[in-house]
Amino acid sequence: MSGVEPYTDSRQVTARNVDLTNCDRELVQYPAAVQSHGAMLVVDEPNYTILQASENCQHLIGQAAKDLLGKTIADVFGTSAPKMVERLHRMSLENGPVHVVRESFAGSTSGVNIFAHRCDGVLILELEVISDSNDAASAQAYSDVRETIAKLEKTRSVQEFLDLAVERIRTFTGYDRVMAYKFAEDGSGHVVSEAKEQDLEPYLGLHYPATDIPAPARRLFELSWLRHLPDVDYVPVPLVPESHPLTNSPIDMSFAILRSVSVMYTAYLRNMGVRSTMVMPLMKSGRLWGLISAMHHSGPRHVPFEVRMAAEFLAHMISLQMAGKEDAEFYETRIRMAEISEQLIEGFRREHDLHEAMTSAGRKPNLLTLLPAQGAAVVSRGAVSLTGATPPKDEVLKLAEWIVKSGNPVFETDRLSESYSPACAYKSVASGVMAVRLSAHTDEMLMWFRPEHIEIVSWAGDPKKPVDVSEADGMLRLQPRTSFALWKQSVTGRCDPWRQDEREAAANLRQGVMSVIASRAEEIERMNRQLAEANVELDSFAYVASHDLKEPLRGVHHLVSFLKRGQESKLNEEGRKQLDNILKLTRRMDDLIESLLQYSRTGRVELALETTDLEAVVEDALAAATRLISHTGAEIRRPRPLGHEVCDAVRIREVFSNLISNALKYNDKPNRFVEIGMEVGAQKRYYVRDNGIGIEEAAKDQIFEIFHRMHGQNEFGGGVGAGLTIARRTVERHGGKLWLESTVGQGSTFYFTLGPEAPT
Ligand code: ADP
Repeated sequence: MSGVEPYTDSRQVTARNVDLTNCDRELVQYPAAVQSHGAMLVVDEPNYTILQASENCQHLIGQAAKDLLGKTIADVFGTSAPKMVERLHRMSLENGPVHVVRESFAGSTSGVNIFAHRCDGVLILELEVISDSNDAASAQAYSDVRETIAKLEKTRSVQEFLDLAVERIRTFTGYDRVMAYKFAEDGSGHVVSEAKEQDLEPYLGLHYPATDIPAPARRLFELSWLRHLPDVDYVPVPLVPESHPLTNSPIDMSFAILRSVSVMYTAYLRNMGVRSTMVMPLMKSGRLWGLISAMHHSGPRHVPFEVRMAAEFLAHMISLQMAGKEDAEFYETRIRMAEISEQLIEGFRREHDLHEAMTSAGRKPNLLTLLPAQGAAVVSRGAVSLTGATPPKDEVLKLAEWIVKSGNPVFETDRLSESYSPACAYKSVASGVMAVRLSAHTDEMLMWFRPEHIEIVSWAGDPKKPVDVSEADGMLRLQPRTSFALWKQSVTGRCDPWRQDEREAAANLRQGVMSVIASRAEEIERMNRQLAEANVELDSFAYVASHDLKEPLRGVHHLVSFLKRGQESKLNEEGRKQLDNILKLTRRMDDLIESLLQYSRTGRVELALETTDLEAVVEDALAAATRLISHTGAEIRRPRPLGHEVCDAVRIREVFSNLISNALKYNDKPNRFVEIGMEVGAQKRYYVRDNGIGIEEAAKDQIFEIFHRMHGQNEFGGGVGAGLTIARRTVERHGGKLWLESTVGQGSTFYFTLGPEAPT
C-alpha cells in the first residue's frame, strides 16, 4: 500500500483488527457476521442440523438464534421443509447462492427469499427480506435486459458499448450513479464511462489508486458476479456461535449474499458520500478487466433479487460482448497492420533499397503508416534515413549503437530518457522508441519514435496519501482518506505505451525484411555460381576456338608464303605488296589468337602453388627481356630483395615479364629506368616502376580490357593489348589485386599483391 509501512504482524487480520496498514491481508471472507437485511443459517448435511444462526433470527423467523442451534430445518420451515430438501437435492450448490424458495413466517408481514450454497463443508442458507414495493421493477427487469442486450450488440465501438451499458443499468436499477471502471496493469484504475443524476459531481476520467481496491476485494470480485450493499450504515449481525462448532473457526463466506463487508470498505464509501452500492465485475478471458459500479448517494437502496439477477445476467453478457468487441477492434487493427507490413515488404522486394522502401515520403505506405508514431528511421551501417519528427541523424546513430549493445532483436521503451540520458535533449520528439534489428552484429535497424505525452492524471484524492490518522478508543488508527478532492499529477518524459499488437507488427515486419535480405543473398550467391560456371564455359570455348583457328591460319600463312616464293617473278609491285600485307595480317592474327589462348588458359589451368623465390623469378623475367633492355639502355633498379611467396612461379614470371617489358616499352625519356621492388604494409605488395610516358586517369581501367591498346599498332614497339588483362587475371587467381598509380609524362607504378587482404 503506497505511503504506508508494510504490515509485519503475522496475526490473522479480520474485521476486528483491520486498519489501512493491514487491510491488504484482511480475511474479508471470514467476517463471522452478516448484513442486517437478512438472516443466515449454517447447516450440517445430511441431517440438516443447524450449526450457526445469525442473531437477528428472532426478528425474521420468530425464533432466537441460540434456540435454533441443534434443531433441523424441518423445525424452522415446518411443512415447507420437505419441498425445500427435495430442491436442495436437485440443485447444484457449489458455485454460489441459488434461489431455493420464497417463504413467509407466521407473525412476519414480509416474506423472505431463501438462497442456498455449499462452502467450506457446510450448507449456508440465506434469508433475504422481500420488499413489496419493488415487485413491479422485478417484473420489468427481464424485458429491460433483453432490450439492452439487443441494443448493446449494435454498438460500433467499445466506448459506445460501455456508455450504453452504464446508462441502461442505471435506468433499471434506479441508482444515482453507474460507472464503468477499467483496471491498469499496476492495479490502479480509471472511470471510462459514467451515467449519473445530473446534479452529481462527475467522476468520469478520474483515476483511483491501486490501494482503493485491496487484493482480497479483487479476489472476491473474481469469484462472484454481483456484490450488493443495500445500506452502507448497516449494523453487522454476528453469527451465534461465531465459529463453526466442530472446526472452531469462522466459516468462509466468500460467496454469501449477506456477507458483512470490511469496515474499511464502508468507511471508504461513507467518506465518498455513498449510501448503497452494487458492483459487478467485468471479466475478460477469466481475468478482472474492470468493474461496473453503481452508487447511491441519496439514501440506502435495496435492489430486489429479481432485478439483481437480471443485472447479474447483464454483467455476464456485457463481459462476453465487451470481450468480443474489444477483440474485434484489436483484430481489425491487426489485420490492417498485417496488410501494411506486407505492402512494405513487397515494396522492399521490388525497390531493393531499404531506405527508399521504408521512409519514402511521397509514396504510401511507409514505416509511419504501419505504427502510430510521429517519426521513423532506417539505419544501416552508419547510413540514416529519416521521416517525420525525429532526433537529428547523429543522435539517431548514437541511439542505434546503444540499442545494439542492449542485444535485443526488438527493443522498445515508452520512457527512453530514464534509461538513456542523451534522450533528455530530444524527448519532445522521442520519449519513446521502438526498434527492430535486422542483423545480429551491425547497427542495421528500423526505428519508430513517439513524442513526449505530458499526461495529466486526475486522481480521486491524493494517491500518495490514502490514509487519515484518527484517534479512536484512545488509540491512533489509520482510516481511509476522507478527502476525494481532485488531485492532479503530471507525468513527463513518457509517451503512449507501445501495445502488444504494435510490438507484434514491428516484429513481423522485421521477419519479412530479413527474409527478403536472406533470399537476396541467396540469389546473389546463385548468380555468382552461374557466372563462375559461365566463365569456365567461356574459357573452354575460347580455348577450343583459338586452338582450332590456329590450324587454318597456319595453312593460309604457308600458302601465301608458298605463293610469294613461287610466283614472285610473275607478280608486279602491287601484287607483292598485297601478299606481304596478307602475311603481316596472318602473323598479327596469330598473335591475337595466341593471346586469347593464353588468357583462357589463365582462367582454366590449375595453379601450381609452391613457395617461390621471387628474386629468381624476376631474374628469369629480366633475362627474357635482355634484348629490350640493352636496346633501350634502361637502368634496372632493385632496391630490396623480394623474398619468398607461395605462388605459381611460371605464371608470376609472366606477370613480371609483362610489366617489365611495358615499363621498358612505354618510355620516351633519354635516361630510362625500371625499378622492381616490394613494399611491406598490412600486406606485402610488389611493384614495377618506370619513368615513362605515364597513363591518363581516364585510361586506367581501359588498359586492363583485352585487346585494348592506348597506342597505334606500331608505336612503342607494338603489342596486342592482352598482356595486362592476363597479368591481372593471374594475380586475381592468386587471390590478389593488380592496380596502378601514374602521372602522365612522369611515369607509372604497377602494384600487385598475391593473396587476399588481411581483415582489418
Ligand atoms: P600491350 O603492351 O601488348 O599493348 P598491355 O595489356 O600490356 O598490352 O597494355 C595495354 C596498354 O596499356 C598499352 O597499349 C599501353 O598503352 C598501356 N601501358 C601498359 N603499360 C604501360 C606503362 N608502363 N606506361 C604507359 N602505358 C602503359
